[in-house]
Amino acid sequence: MTRDEERGNPQSECPDEGEIREHADVLGLLGEEIPTGTFRTVGERVEAMQKIASRRVYKATDCGAWLAFRGDAEVGEVGITVGSIVEGADFGTEEHTLDYPFTADAFWSSLDEIEKEASYIWKQTHGCESCWPEGTADDWGNEFEPGEVGGPINPNCPECQGEGAVL
Ligand SMILES: [Zn+2]
Repeated sequence: MTRDEERGNPQSECPDEGEIREHADVLGLLGEEIPTGTFRTVGERVEAMQKIASRRVYKATDCGAWLAFRGDAEVGEVGITVGSIVEGADFGTEEHTLDYPFTADAFWSSLDEIEKEASYIWKQTHGCESCWPEGTADDWGNEFEPGEVGGPINPNCPECQGEGAVL
């Protein structure tokens, strides 16, 4: 066996589009192309595609959502997971999983859900020091002292006008 054969020939290992058709369709939904170039394994190619998809989803959402492909060595492509961190909060949104095949509507509505969740979490965690002069509690029962930042936003706050504080 030659060294090249031991390492495997990148050309022959590079999957054709048929093997990543459903992940590729997600890129299509996002208006992105399948990355060109030689990938040694399906995994490397999927990773490159995931980077492109996640960057596009990050830019397409106010909250800066992320996207991950899900697959399995045995069954191949499984679906995607989407979610979002919330800046200044120590937890993010729920992770939404979609299994193939799904419609464009299902895809975009899961991103809408994530935007709503992220906005809700932001509003529960970005109160400024003037939001609640008497102190308050958030929807999850955490209590906040008068003047404590990082609690819920008071929509009628004279200081931040319900915008909250950037933490
Ligand atoms: Zn305020």
